[in-house]
Amino acid sequence: MEAGDIEHNLRIVAGQISAAAESCGRDPGEVQLIAVTKTFPAQSILAATAAGQLRFGENRIQEAESKIHALSGIPGIEWHLVGHLQSNKAKRAAELFQVIHSLDSTKLAVRLSEACSAIGKVMHVLLQVDLGQEETKYGADPDEVRNIIDAASGLAGIRIEGLMTIPPYFEDPEETRPYFSALRQLRDALESEHAGCLGQGHLSMGMSHDFAVAIREGATMVRVGTAIFGERTYA
Ligand SMILES: *Cc1c(COP(=O)(O)O)cnc(C)c1O
Repeated sequence: MEAGDIEHNLRIVAGQISAAAESCGRDPGEVQLIAVTKTFPAQSILAATAAGQLRFGENRIQEAESKIHALSGIPGIEWHLVGHLQSNKAKRAAELFQVIHSLDSTKLAVRLSEACSAIGKVMHVLLQVDLGQEETKYGADPDEVRNIIDAASGLAGIRIEGLMTIPPYFEDPEETRPYFSALRQLRDALESEHAGCLGQGHLSMGMSHDFAVAIREGATMVRVGTAIFGERTYA
């Protein structure tokens, strides 16, 4: 996709984010846009940075690594891991990312804590929640989430800042709404059980076709790929 198209799409998405936030009385500034760049080249990411976008999401370490290195000279660029992380890759993730959206086990929390501490970094992490969606392979169920919080809250090198979920795909985004509201309710319940246990209490939810609904249910981070960079083709 041409740089001008990416810039145009970013403007449209930003407008839709603002409209969704304003429609429910929220400040659009509370919603961070994470531009998800998996399968897209560094050149497309560069075009997005030229249009002012600095937060990017990748879902595989291997693929992210070369792009992150290629774009490391851009001041303020921020990388979010939105895909599953195996604990044996915690060290590389610690070096590459600023935010990890997919923490889903105590074992991974411990590995990340060790890896981040070793390089003097404090990684912001979100707990990926499995809300009972059948096709999801990853994520912790709400009881496991409580266990991870108990185990990880005292660990150096990582700071829990909220929750993330990937709901099933529905043609009609209104059908996704119950998953978004369930994540918000879980956040609120956890915070009332233990004030401050989720840091800033971020909710990472909503993708290209349903981010407006997610924002109306309280999303503070939306992860948007296709609406900015076009359809992905997988080799
Ligand atoms: C690919 C991906 C997205 C973006 O999806 P689009 O439908 O292209 O906006 C968001 N979150 C995760 C975890 C992804 O893997």
